[in-house]
Amino acid sequence: MEKINLKLTVTNCFLIKNKEKYILIDTGYEYEWELFCKRLKEVGVSISEISHIILTHHHDDHCGLLNKILEENNAIKVVMSYLAKDLLLKGENDQSHGGGLINKRIKLLLSLGLKRFKIMITLKKFINKKSNLKFTPYKIRENDILITKESTFKEIGIDLNGTIIETPGHSIDSISLLFDDGDCIVGDAAANFMQFAGTKYCVIYVCDIDEYYNSWTKIISRNAKIIFPSHGDSFIVEKLKDNIGKNKKENMVMNK
Ligand SMILES: [Zn+2]
Repeated sequence: MEKINLKLTVTNCFLIKNKEKYILIDTGYEYEWELFCKRLKEVGVSISEISHIILTHHHDDHCGLLNKILEENNAIKVVMSYLAKDLLLKGENDQSHGGGLINKRIKLLLSLGLKRFKIMITLKKFINKKSNLKFTPYKIRENDILITKESTFKEIGIDLNGTIIETPGHSIDSISLLFDDGDCIVGDAAANFMQFAGTKYCVIYVCDIDEYYNSWTKIISRNAKIIFPSHGDSFIVEKLKDNIGKNKKENMVMNK
């Protein structure tokens, strides 16, 4: 599946061409509006050409620009898990279903405040300094599409070959887009970010690590081939097979 990666500060948003229109997957942080517009311009796409936005989950770095984009094009239909509906209305990353740093090493690095290292600046940005895990609340509209169970794109009126599958663990509302050719856009259901800190293809925040790895099992069993995460470069599914279960619960600490 041909996709355009709109690389924002730390989030990859993807554009997929569907006939004369585009499907946008995720939107980035609220403060990234100018960067988002610049990226769109670079690839010669305008907001008026977007027909759908699919949110992999409700977090600030994925839905921050949702309201802003819809202000420009109110006809866009937003697709999300039915579990995202109330969370988007709160305008805040959900922390009531667990959530901690994936490993102790990252917390240690943060506490050392190694400001001179570029990676720490990136990490701080990622973690919450600018957005504070908040975003402008979003109230779903009549035309939006709530996914209540696994659905093919065709079932929700999108003419692409693939399926939207539920992949919770990072958040309760996480969904992934599995295309028939084996490409899988996973949001934060996996990541390729800060490997040096022992993330082992997990994203930094995880609500429920067992559920997170169950979602990997699902992605693997459904014959995904290439994983496209929101954070970091794409990678082959074998990396998930090799690393499943490697982050143990006891190595996780809360981000408090
Ligand atoms: Zn997230």
